[in-house]
Amino acid sequence: MEIILFTLIGLAVGSFLNVVILRVPQNQSISFPPSHCPKCKNRLKFYHNVPIISWVMLGGKCAYCKEKISLQYPLVEFFTAIIFLVTFLKSDNMLQAGIYSALFSALFALSMIDLRYKAVPDLISFPALFISFFARDFLDSFTDALLFAGGFTLLRMVVSWIIKKEAMGEADIIIAAIIGATLGVHLGLSAIYLGALIAIPAFLIVGKRGFHLPFIPFLTLGLFITWLFDKQILMLLERIYG
Ligand SMILES: [Zn+2]
Repeated sequence: MEIILFTLIGLAVGSFLNVVILRVPQNQSISFPPSHCPKCKNRLKFYHNVPIISWVMLGGKCAYCKEKISLQYPLVEFFTAIIFLVTFLKSDNMLQAGIYSALFSALFALSMIDLRYKAVPDLISFPALFISFFARDFLDSFTDALLFAGGFTLLRMVVSWIIKKEAMGEADIIIAAIIGATLGVHLGLSAIYLGALIAIPAFLIVGKRGFHLPFIPFLTLGLFITWLFDKQILMLLERIYG
């Protein structure tokens, strides 16, 4: 029963994330004006706004003017619900499930905003960093966040100097700090390595066409996968490095 409730909360949070993804990068209020069709400006009724179901029932079109509604809306709702479901299954207790769901939801929103707008609003990244301090023991998380932020800053300076171009964004440093806080040193480094590994084929495919690919979605994916399979990855590391 708890698991169904938790997943449904995830659906509702996904609905909220859609508003955040659309409005925060444009510095619009997330509460006003209420949900409306971007084309005909008609206000949506509550039954036009039920996660996933409304989009399917309306055939992906506005109820008033039949303007197409982006598939992004039900997809964000779906994936947020999945994040909540998986996090619930992985967590030891409700408090942990809550902290990690909030953290991964914020990172998911940041990834979508980075993909769409090539922007990373502090309004989301700093609260996410704050939540990550509670991912493990506060002092451990805080120390590793500082360590990763420092390490990434240094790495950024070196890489920028080598390629004579600004490498990575400042926001990547905050995400690195979040990864350090959440996973600690060993798993944290694995997460960044995994994120880079997943990014390589994507960069090879779209990078050639001059498309600038953001890094945050890959770091987030690396973090989420490493967190999910922490025991297996630690075992693998132990086997490699003794
Ligand atoms: Zn409309």
